[in-house]
Amino acid sequence: MGYAAGLLPPAYDLVVASAVSLDDDARARLSSFEAIGGTLLDDIEVPPLDSHSIQAVMDKIDSDAAPETYGSGYQTRPRAPAPTAVLPQPLRDILGGDIGTLQWRGIGLGVRQIIIAGDAEDQPTARLLSIPAGQAMPEHSHSGTEITLVLKGAFTDGTVRYARGDVEVADDDVEHTPVAEAGSDCICLAVTDAPLRFSALLPRIAQVFLNI
Ligand code: ZN
Repeated sequence: MGYAAGLLPPAYDLVVASAVSLDDDARARLSSFEAIGGTLLDDIEVPPLDSHSIQAVMDKIDSDAAPETYGSGYQTRPRAPAPTAVLPQPLRDILGGDIGTLQWRGIGLGVRQIIIAGDAEDQPTARLLSIPAGQAMPEHSHSGTEITLVLKGAFTDGTVRYARGDVEVADDDVEHTPVAEAGSDCICLAVTDAPLRFSALLPRIAQVFLNI
């Protein structure tokens, strides 16, 4: 509903659009939320415009100000998945291709990442993570909310298994050690609104340099 109403910060927008792209039921639910939003807008009482409003809109249209999107022309509209693509369309739009074309950065233990958005300190951060088959992530807890969407392979967290299209939401009550399943590297889109809290010293030192 927050996504349909346009209330989410860009990184959450991206993970919702990506998750909804992989889920037929979610796309149907999103359409109904948008229809409800449209009906509410129709019924809303419109306050009278002040005399400068039209000129202000025309000035905005004439100005060269960039639209509020990632990169050029990027929009997080969910779309049905292409049969052969690993990344959902909103992610392919922003990254310029599917997983074969990406520039990954190694962050240790064979884990690679691409930071997509949210370098500003107060903004949620979206990152693509590739975790080698069988690899455990360092044990950590969270200062805020972490949303992880699986795009390829699978991981287990305790007794729960997450595979393509599944979303795990972890908050500051959760301390966990997700483990990528054997057989295939696990690629996830992870969004965090605060730095992770690692239990061990080495990851704590590394995170200063890796922005995780
Ligand atoms: Zn976590």
